[in-house]
Amino acid sequence: MKKGLPAHFKDYRHVWVFIELERGHVHPVSFELLGEGRKLADKLGVQLAGVVLGPPGEATWFAIAEAFAYGADLAYIVETPLLADYRNEPFTKALTDLVATHKPEILLLGATTLGRDLAGSVATTLLTGLTADCTELDVDADGSLAATRPTFGGSLLCTIYTLNCRPQMATVRPRVMAMPQRGNNQVGRVVQHEVPMVEEEIVTKVLGFLSDGQSAKANLAYADVVVAGGLGLGAAENLKLVKNLARAIGAEYGCSRPLVQKGWMPADRQIGQTGKTIRPKLYIAAGISGAIQHRVGVEGADLIIAINTDRNAPIFDFAHLGAVTDAIRFLPSLTELFTHRLSPHSRDKLAN
Ligand SMILES: Cc1cc2nc3c(=O)[nH]c(=O)nc-3n(C[C@H](O)[C@H](O)[C@H](O)COP(=O)(O)OP(=O)(O)OC[C@H]3O[C@@H](n4cnc5c(N)ncnc54)[C@H](O)[C@@H]3O)c2cc1C
Repeated sequence: MKKGLPAHFKDYRHVWVFIELERGHVHPVSFELLGEGRKLADKLGVQLAGVVLGPPGEATWFAIAEAFAYGADLAYIVETPLLADYRNEPFTKALTDLVATHKPEILLLGATTLGRDLAGSVATTLLTGLTADCTELDVDADGSLAATRPTFGGSLLCTIYTLNCRPQMATVRPRVMAMPQRGNNQVGRVVQHEVPMVEEEIVTKVLGFLSDGQSAKANLAYADVVVAGGLGLGAAENLKLVKNLARAIGAEYGCSRPLVQKGWMPADRQIGQTGKTIRPKLYIAAGISGAIQHRVGVEGADLIIAINTDRNAPIFDFAHLGAVTDAIRFLPSLTELFTHRLSPHSRDKLAN
C-alpha cells in the first residue's frame, strides 16, 4: 500500500546518474544509465544530471563533457585530490553531501565493484531504499520509480518501490541497458560543490596500485562477438573447442555457471544472471541448455546461434538460428570453415 511521501521529501526532484570515473576512465555503464535516466527524466518532466567525483584535472572534466554528450542537462562535480583513487569514505561523504544539498528524486549507479560498494554505503547513510541489479526502470502513474529485478533465483521478476524515502536509488549491471546514441553537445551547466574533507580524517590510505594483469583480457560484457560453452561439452578439455572458434573469429569466450562451479573456467567468464550480461552482435552457445538465469544475460544479443543435441532445449526458444547436433564434432568444423573463409581483415572487422 502506497503511503503519502513525508512533506520534507516533497522538494526532491530530478534524476541523477553517478558517472563512474576510475583512474581517468569513465565506465561505459554510466552512459547506459544516462540513456535510461533520460527516459525517466522526460516522463517525470524533470532534468537529468551527471554526477562526477574526481581529482582536479582533464579527466574529470572530460567525464563531464561525456555526460553532456550522452544526454545530461547539467552536471554536478566534486573536485578534490582526495577523490583521485576510489575509497568508500570520501566518495560516500561527497555523494551524500551533494544529495543532501541538491535533493535528487532518483539516483542511479552502475552495479560495478565500485558502484555496488558506493551505492550501499550512500543508501545506508541517507537511510533510503536501494534496489540492486535492476533489469528494468520505469516511473508509474504517481511518479514513483518502479525498479524491476529478478528474484527467487531468477525465476520471478519483482518491481520494488521506495515510497517513503528519498532519493530512490537503483543500481544496474553493465550491458543490461542499451548504450544510447552519443550526441555532439559536450557543454552544459556545471554545478561545482565543495565538501569539507581532510586526508587525515580518512582511514583508508592508498599506498600503491597494482593493475589486474588479466582484466584487459576478459572483456566479455563489451565484446561484439562471444562464443560460450556449457555442460554439454562434457569435459574441461573440450573447452579448447570454444576457445579455438573464438580465436578464429576474433571473439571473446565465456561459459555457463556450472563450468565455473566445476573450476573449468574462471568466474569472470561466466555469462548470465550471476555472471556477465552481454550484448554482442553475435553469440554462439555450444552445449548450453538456455536456462532462464543464462537467458537473461544473453537475450540482448543481436544474433544468437545455439548448438545443442536436444531439439527441445529451451535455448531454441530464443535463439535466432540453431544447429541440432553434437557440439564436440561441430565446433572444429565451424572453426576450420571460418579459418579458411575469413581473412584476417574480416576477422578484425567482426571483432571490432
Ligand atoms: C540463483 C541462480 C543463479 C544462476 N546464475 C547463472 C548464471 O549467471 N549463468 C548460467 O549460465 N547459469 C546460472 N544458473 C544455473 C542455471 O539455472 C543452469 O543450471 C545452467 O545455466 C545450466 O548450464 P548448462 O546449460 O551449461 O548445463 P545443462 O542445463 O546441463 O545443459 C547442457 C545442455 O547441453 C546439451 N548437450 C549435451 N551434450 C551435448 C553435445 N555433445 N553437444 C551439444 N549439446 C549438448 C544438452 O542437451 C543440454 O541442453 C543459476 C542458477 C541459480 C539458481
